[in-house]
Amino acid sequence: MSLPRFYPWQEELAATWLGPEQRQRFAHAWLIHGLAGIGKVEFARAAAASLLCEAPEGAMACGRCPACTWYASGNHPDFRRVRPEAVALAEGEAEAGDMEEESAAADEKKAGKRAPSREIRIEQIRAIETWANTGTHRGGLRVVVLYPAESLNTISANGLLKILEEPPPQTVFLLVSDAPDRLLPTLVSRCRRLPLPTPAAGQALQWLGEQGVEPAADWLAAAGGAPLAAQRLAARGDTPCPAWLGQLVQPLAAGKAPDVGTLTESLEKVAAAEWIDALQRLFTDLTLAAHGAASRYYPSLAEPVRQAAARARPAQLAETARWLSRQRGLATHPLNAKLFVHAALQRVVLSCQ
Ligand SMILES: [Zn+2]
Repeated sequence: MSLPRFYPWQEELAATWLGPEQRQRFAHAWLIHGLAGIGKVEFARAAAASLLCEAPEGAMACGRCPACTWYASGNHPDFRRVRPEAVALAEGEAEAGDMEEESAAADEKKAGKRAPSREIRIEQIRAIETWANTGTHRGGLRVVVLYPAESLNTISANGLLKILEEPPPQTVFLLVSDAPDRLLPTLVSRCRRLPLPTPAAGQALQWLGEQGVEPAADWLAAAGGAPLAAQRLAARGDTPCPAWLGQLVQPLAAGKAPDVGTLTESLEKVAAAEWIDALQRLFTDLTLAAHGAASRYYPSLAEPVRQAAARARPAQLAETARWLSRQRGLATHPLNAKLFVHAALQRVVLSCQ
């Protein structure tokens, strides 16, 4: 394993934020926020490496000292990551640095006892409290990277708030969030905010090109300008504009009914977050088209989107967009997958007729 590095679009901010002068009076809790898919967790992990490094070179960890060696192997005793079990599992059990508690949860999961939690649980916060109130191993800082902060439930958010109200010495909390407005306001008020930039298109396209993502511009558009999200979409092997979106929009453009049954069959196996994201992006494009503006996410569908938008009533487009946004916010979906997909597609079709 190697040390996490800042992405090119983060280097300037990191250099200022972690510069020698700033470090003298570094806040004990930060809320790192910004668009999803721009590399916020990677930024926080690179920052943690830099804060723990015993011979930092400006904002960067040196990569050679004992602290860097431990960090790179996932064994730094003064570093903790706090994330929901489901996130830990998705990131790979093989990755070092997991807390024992998380491994135990993974074992339980493998034994089929329960689904992995999508929330940061109070037990995880209590473990951090105990750890933060023992001496640091290396005499330097202790760093906690917690993400996504919106997965704190009410109890764990209050537990964390209690810790931040009487901050343990020499401890830095880096909270990462796509949606700071969904956090407990009192918790946010205990943190300094650090908004991370979305890279300029040129920089994002250059980076995507270096990662071998093609066609970079279409993937970047489909991901709303977020390069890591674009890379993840591309890795799934579909096209920048999923084929099913075309099958949905083409008939609507011609004033015909799409084949909802067939579309449902192809979507019921896709993760809800994924197809809801795509529908939300489609609705942004439809809304833009209804106002005579160019497509933001799916330029290849611009013409059918324009025609479909011309048939739709703006109020209904807005209503369905709000409905999709509510569905996206739900961690779990009460209906079975097929019924849910079917209901969503019917709403979309109705709002475009
Ligand atoms: Zn170092």
